[in-house]
Amino acid sequence: MKHPMPSLSEMTAKQIRELPAKKVDRPLLPEEIPLVYNAFDAGWKYESGMLYHAKLKSDLCSDGFYFSGLVLCHDNWLEIMAQQIVWQHEQSGLLKPTVVYGIATGATELGKMVAQVMGVAYGHMIKGHGKTFVASDTITDAITGITRHLRFDDIVMIVEDVFTRFTAGSGAVNAIYAVLPSVVILPEVYGIYNRGNLGWVKTTNGLWLHVKGLIRQKLNEYEPGSVTCPMCEAGSIPIKPKDKEHPENWELINTRFFAI
Ligand SMILES: [Zn+2]
Repeated sequence: MKHPMPSLSEMTAKQIRELPAKKVDRPLLPEEIPLVYNAFDAGWKYESGMLYHAKLKSDLCSDGFYFSGLVLCHDNWLEIMAQQIVWQHEQSGLLKPTVVYGIATGATELGKMVAQVMGVAYGHMIKGHGKTFVASDTITDAITGITRHLRFDDIVMIVEDVFTRFTAGSGAVNAIYAVLPSVVILPEVYGIYNRGNLGWVKTTNGLWLHVKGLIRQKLNEYEPGSVTCPMCEAGSIPIKPKDKEHPENWELINTRFFAI
């Protein structure tokens, strides 16, 4: 008889990091997701006295941050998280998509892997200037690699790694509609962390979407400044934890305490 997978809470960090995708035979519980991020040192939480704290894309300060790239760069966990998202979609009872778009750039590979698990096509999306996104009208079958144009009857599923305020999600919807306004977008969007505690959200062009993460929680956000942000007030400096031009920021923000 096959034994069901034990809780991740019974595994060491190394066992979690090396967990084969085939062993994960059930949906993970919300409380298991932070264990995965911790195993890869991909979750940051502010502690009193830290020299730096997180600055979000919205320029607000935050006391927590999840760096999914450190988890999803491992093939086994890319596949595990993709399978988790596919199961979540299956539970919804919604139509199977014909194309999956991973929101650029954090969920690009995740979107491709979700498409591969489902045996459908994936769409291409890049970050444009500022906070805009550009989608391509050419999509690629995840299994055969054959490309074709997006059609009016395609059913689009949107995948993200971390939801904060859905600004990127809104931008992604606009980018897809800019390619083909008649395309159908599934009313649920899927991702790993719903750190904005989002439920139904309205995109800038008026579409209502239900944000589904594997875990939903609310991390604090503050206007930067010593009056509004307790971390700024304590002398800690806000920096973007994930910054292509400053890759050292992730190490900096994990610097534990003020040097004395
Ligand atoms: Zn601050």
